[in-house]
Amino acid sequence: MLSLIIPCFNEEAALPIFFQKILQVVQEMGCGYELIFINDGSTDRTLKLLEDFSVQDPDHRFYLSFSRNFGKEAAIYAGFCNAHGDYIAVIDADMQDPPSLLPQMLSLLESGEYDSVATRRVNRSGEPPVRSWFARQFYRLINKISDADIVDGARDFRLMRREVVEAILAMGESNRFSKGIFGWVGFRTCWLPYENKERVAGESKWSFTKLFRYAVDGIISFSQVPCSIASWFGVVMTICAFLFMLFVIVRKLLFGDPVTGWASLVCIIIFIGGLQLFCLGIIGQYIAKTYMETKQRPHYIIAKTNMEGAIKIR
Ligand code: UDP
Ligand code: MG
Repeated sequence: MLSLIIPCFNEEAALPIFFQKILQVVQEMGCGYELIFINDGSTDRTLKLLEDFSVQDPDHRFYLSFSRNFGKEAAIYAGFCNAHGDYIAVIDADMQDPPSLLPQMLSLLESGEYDSVATRRVNRSGEPPVRSWFARQFYRLINKISDADIVDGARDFRLMRREVVEAILAMGESNRFSKGIFGWVGFRTCWLPYENKERVAGESKWSFTKLFRYAVDGIISFSQVPCSIASWFGVVMTICAFLFMLFVIVRKLLFGDPVTGWASLVCIIIFIGGLQLFCLGIIGQYIAKTYMETKQRPHYIIAKTNMEGAIKIR
């Protein structure tokens, strides 16, 4: 059986198109299936659409409606917790993840060669160039400084065996950076490249600032390298200070000591002060994350669902 997990946040415009396409694809595939829609605190008619859609075939169509917006990562987590299939896929509702790839993904898994089939977009058409540039730099950086293998252009659109999903669920952290988590659990992954598609309707929920924060969160979740930045600054500054000391002593011996250097002194003090605050900030980020993790708050809360026995809080 195949479980499809579809996170939806204000997708009233895209859902009717998605319903039609996904039904066509699963019927063509002819295997057992369940569609699990997660309504992530939408403020438009998304929930109404999902209810109406599920009523027509309550054995195959389910919705889990959150008590508020918890974010896509939480929606994916809730889907994984409540999926019953042997094969489990995550797919966006906006048609940017083409459902027509599913049959090919399934046959790749069934061949037994892979445990997980992931997709990656080969171009970033329809995206502002500045954003693409930052995205590329982010992937280069995070792959250098963390041991999670994060592929540039990787989408969350994936089909996985149950074992992989169980491994993912065993990672109970509340700061969930899916791209890193998928890579971290390992397993044999097949990458399917495809041309970037623009969403059929509605708007992306990602502004540039949101993406930037997401990138910082990703780095903090999967790397400790920023923590050692302070030590490296410390080493470099000590060496500089030592060289400067030699310079001052030599100058004193050769030319006497005219009391100058007020301006440079102030610059140095401000510079070091800035560096110290910067490093404190990095440590602060890690402490804040640790603080949130220790609270062990639930990842999501389901307020309404048509799935019997669904795990409502976890
Ligand atoms: N989404 C969600 N919760 C959120 C933001 C997005 O469930 O807080 C869903 C959204 O409905 C869509 C998918 O996640 O199905 C991807 O969102 P979006 O298209 O905005 O992101 P992009 O494709 O631009 O990365
Ligand atoms: Mg999208």
